[in-house]
Amino acid sequence: MCKIVESEQFEVVELIAALPNPKDYGEVGTTGKGTVYVGLDEAINSAILVLREKSNNCPMCILAALRQSGIIPAISIHAFDYKAEVERFWKEKNEEDRRQDDFEACH
Ligand SMILES: [Zn+2]
Repeated sequence: MCKIVESEQFEVVELIAALPNPKDYGEVGTTGKGTVYVGLDEAINSAILVLREKSNNCPMCILAALRQSGIIPAISIHAFDYKAEVERFWKEKNEEDRRQDDFEACH
């Protein structure tokens, strides 16, 4: 697990601060899945880029920020697919661990 989620909760607060507030955007209307806002989807797309940078592209941190913000409508999130991102995260993590094992095995 990543250290940001585990021990540095304030970091998540910092991530949340990078997210836009839907209240700053005009409402387009409400669908069965939630409220749609003018320009909010694009603002979230850019915010997710910032979140990736700040969290070292950690899907758990990004999801924590999106969830804990309590204001980001799921319907407006397009640049982040938690399930796919977590799979990628663990795949990369496992490869890293394997490389580390190889390193330790011959030193
Ligand atoms: Zn993280």
